[in-house]
Amino acid sequence: MKKKQISIIGSTGSIGTQALEVIEKLHDKFEILALTGGDNVKLLREQIQKFNPKTVCVKSNDIKLELEKEFDNVKFLFSDDGLEEICSNTQNDLLVMAVSGKIGLKPTLTAIENKIDIALANKETLVMAGDIVMKRAKANGVSILPIDSEHCAIHQCIKNISDVRKLIITASGGPFKDKSLDEIKKATVEQTLAHPKWNMGKKITVDSATLMNKGLEVIEAHHLFGTSYDDIEVVVHPQSIIHSAIEYVDGSVIAQIGLPSMHIPIQYALTYPERIEGIKSESFSFLDAKRFDFEAPDLEKFPCLRLAYEAGRAGGSAPICLNAANEEAVFTFLKGQIKLYKIFETVDKMLSNHDLIKSPAIEEIIAIDDEIRIKTREFLRKFC
Ligand code: NDP
Ligand code: MG
Repeated sequence: MKKKQISIIGSTGSIGTQALEVIEKLHDKFEILALTGGDNVKLLREQIQKFNPKTVCVKSNDIKLELEKEFDNVKFLFSDDGLEEICSNTQNDLLVMAVSGKIGLKPTLTAIENKIDIALANKETLVMAGDIVMKRAKANGVSILPIDSEHCAIHQCIKNISDVRKLIITASGGPFKDKSLDEIKKATVEQTLAHPKWNMGKKITVDSATLMNKGLEVIEAHHLFGTSYDDIEVVVHPQSIIHSAIEYVDGSVIAQIGLPSMHIPIQYALTYPERIEGIKSESFSFLDAKRFDFEAPDLEKFPCLRLAYEAGRAGGSAPICLNAANEEAVFTFLKGQIKLYKIFETVDKMLSNHDLIKSPAIEEIIAIDDEIRIKTREFLRKFC
């Protein structure tokens, strides 16, 4: 059987490297067509040696020139144009969108225009432009297969979306679940990056600590499954064994259960609709798991989740504002220049000053994103 041709956008990140681990294990099923990386050139070099991609996109022309000297049989590209070229190559059977942040948006749209199916990890794409992305995917017959574990869980549970009454998205609660508001306000970068259950990129790890990640996931779920915000519930489940659930109109609840590992949702998206034994296919034991706990998210301690619901319900440009202000504040926090709680205060301020645009087109989305980032950086400068 012909191997599935895969390109990974963001192959040097947490999702990208795990996708390559799945592919290495299932090398008789998949072939790497293209890889792309950012600053981690050392890892990208190792990946090129191991997976022999035909094309590689790097961040700058300097890196391109450096790598061209080392690899004869690889076509090197750089910057946004390079990403566009990779995402418009119709030899791709599936594209893994594993970059972080807003740079995922344009390549995703390019892949959709070229009728290439997408395994989507990059949640910012749906938060910024979910209406447009989902509409264009439908019009082009493109499948968007969610990699985010909660959405992958829901995707696995759903038979017929019109029979679904609500989505139940689980959250581990992050490192500060049992800390006081005072402790959260004083949290250091190191404490924030020590996630109890998942090992992820820095940006999403901070978002998990503030529960903004859960908020972004609520917006992501709204777009992926067309569910209204009133019918999306977030439940804290510290064991991270139930990855999410759906409730049908007859009251039946179907949940997806498994050990916390991103290899499973990544593999599910890569092999869909097939299921095969892969990298993390050991049996799950209810007896070892022992107990499942649940609690409501504390919106006093984690107000970012409330802001995300508000922005999602407001629609239009509000989620763009939420995402851009959050991303800028998170980067500033990671540099050690602001306290953790300032992330919430920044997003709150930006959202309350934002003039809503109802149905922004793609170019407007990019412009709004740029404008909010400038305003956010200005606002944050006072505290740095
Ligand atoms: P990482 O920060 O670990 O990786 C991001 C990837 O994008 C890296 O390959 C990085 O390159 C590349 N990248 C970042 N900025 C640029 C740029 N300007 N130009 C080119 N490449 C760039 O992130 P994660 O893997 O954790 O997350 C990726 C996406 O998946 C995010 O949207 C996140 O929300 C989502 N997600 C992640 C999960 C996880 O478990 N990690 C779970 C669910 C969703 P380099 O490292 O070489 O600089
Ligand atoms: Mg998730």
